[in-house]
Amino acid sequence: MSGTLSEATGRRPSSQKGVRLFRPIAYFESLALIKPADLQALGYRLLLLDVDNTITTWNNQQLAPEVERWFARLLQYNLRACLLSNNSAERLQGLADRLGIAFCAKARKPLPAGYRRAVQQMGGRPEHTLMLGDQLLTDILGASLAGLDSVLLRPISLAQEFRWTYVNRRIEKLFIKGVLARTPHNHFNM
Ligand SMILES: [Mg+2]
Repeated sequence: MSGTLSEATGRRPSSQKGVRLFRPIAYFESLALIKPADLQALGYRLLLLDVDNTITTWNNQQLAPEVERWFARLLQYNLRACLLSNNSAERLQGLADRLGIAFCAKARKPLPAGYRRAVQQMGGRPEHTLMLGDQLLTDILGASLAGLDSVLLRPISLAQEFRWTYVNRRIEKLFIKGVLARTPHNHFNM
């Protein structure tokens, strides 16, 4: 009966819909493992990147050399980048300046408005934009809500985090195994 109903309304059953909200195109153990050439080949032109535990550890202003090198390589593959974080401009400014890229602070992920604003500010197109982040419940969920593809990254370190992130991680545990089981690891399905 519910199948008939969903056919009639053209909607997916809610369980499937829920699953779709947590569907990164790939999972990588670190940013440096992602080949910019692959991103270009997949048609992406704009990358939105989470900050804490994606490009550096929580509240850290240092960047690992391999992360800086990775960003430096993006230009030759026609890829532009923008930091997209719920954190403050004070947190992002120094990192963005060092990488020579733009940033969008207080994005209020997982709400889709911040993602859309970032795409617009960068003059990008949603279908050419990829979100990269370490949290299912913020980075990946928000990207889906904004109609963007996403890549899930392993958090750099869980040693110290914002207290709400700790709550998110507890909830994330309910989904993460299922998500990882159907997501390519350290490569893209090209
Ligand atoms: Mg993060």
